[in-house]
Amino acid sequence: MSRLTIHQIPLLQDNYGYLLHEPQAKVTAVVDPAVSEPILRALAKRDWSLDYILNTHHHYDHTGGNLELKRATGCKIIGPRHDSDRIPGIDLGVSDGDTARIGGAEGEVIAVDGHTHGHIAYWFRESRALFCGDTLFSLGCGRLFEGEPEEMWESLKRLRILPDDSLVFCGHEYTPANARFALSIDPDNPDLLARVQEVEKKRTKGQSTVPSTLEMERRANPFLRADVDAIARAVGMQGASPAQVFAEIRRRKDAF
Ligand code: ZN
Ligand code: FE
Repeated sequence: MSRLTIHQIPLLQDNYGYLLHEPQAKVTAVVDPAVSEPILRALAKRDWSLDYILNTHHHYDHTGGNLELKRATGCKIIGPRHDSDRIPGIDLGVSDGDTARIGGAEGEVIAVDGHTHGHIAYWFRESRALFCGDTLFSLGCGRLFEGEPEEMWESLKRLRILPDDSLVFCGHEYTPANARFALSIDPDNPDLLARVQEVEKKRTKGQSTVPSTLEMERRANPFLRADVDAIARAVGMQGASPAQVFAEIRRRKDAF
C-alpha cells in the first residue's frame, strides 16, 4: 500500500475538493469536484494528469465538475453504486466494503447513509485520510436531506471507530458556525473550548480548519457524543436512546 499526497482545493463558497496523488505509480484523483476550472489549474501547476474522480454523493456541489473534467482529461468516475443514476458520468459504482484503488493506495468504501441515500465515505488507511463528504463535518454533521436520524447516527458510529489519528477531510468549511452551535449544547467541554480557540485563530489568519483529527471530533463534536450522559442531560433527554438524542441535537441545529 502507498501513501497519498493530498492537496485541499477551496471551491465555490465553502466547499473543499481534494487532489490525491500517489507518487510511485503517478496516479492522481480528485474527490468531489464541485467545478472543473480550479481542479484543472491545480493539475497543470503540478504537471499531473487526472486518472479518477471519487464522488461521495450526488449533490451538485460535489459532482458539478464531473463531466467537464472527464471530457478534458479522460478520467474515470468512481461513485456510490446505489446512487449511480444521480452521479453524472459514473464509470464504476462502489459500495460498502469495496476498495477504490489510486495506484498503490487503497481506499475502503464505507456506506454512510443519512445526508443522502447512497452517500459513501472513502478511508485510505495507510494515509490516515478519511474523505467523508457531507456526513461528518468538523464539530458538526450533514443535514438529513434524505435519511432518518437513526441512519445518520449509525453512519457516524461507523466513522467514529476509525483510528484516533485519522484526518477528517470533509466537504465544507462549516467549522465556525458548527462551533457556535456546539457551544450551545456542550459549553463546559474543555476539548470543545480548546478546539473553538484553535478555529478562531485559524479563521482570523484565513486558514482552513480542515482536516481535523477523529480523536478531536470524538471528544468535541456533539453529534458524535449523543451516547454520552452529559449530552443527553444537556438536551433534557436522560434515558432516551442515543439515536433519539442525536435526532434532538440535529433538530436544534436545523433551527439554530
Ligand atoms: Zn451534500
Ligand atoms: Fe455539500
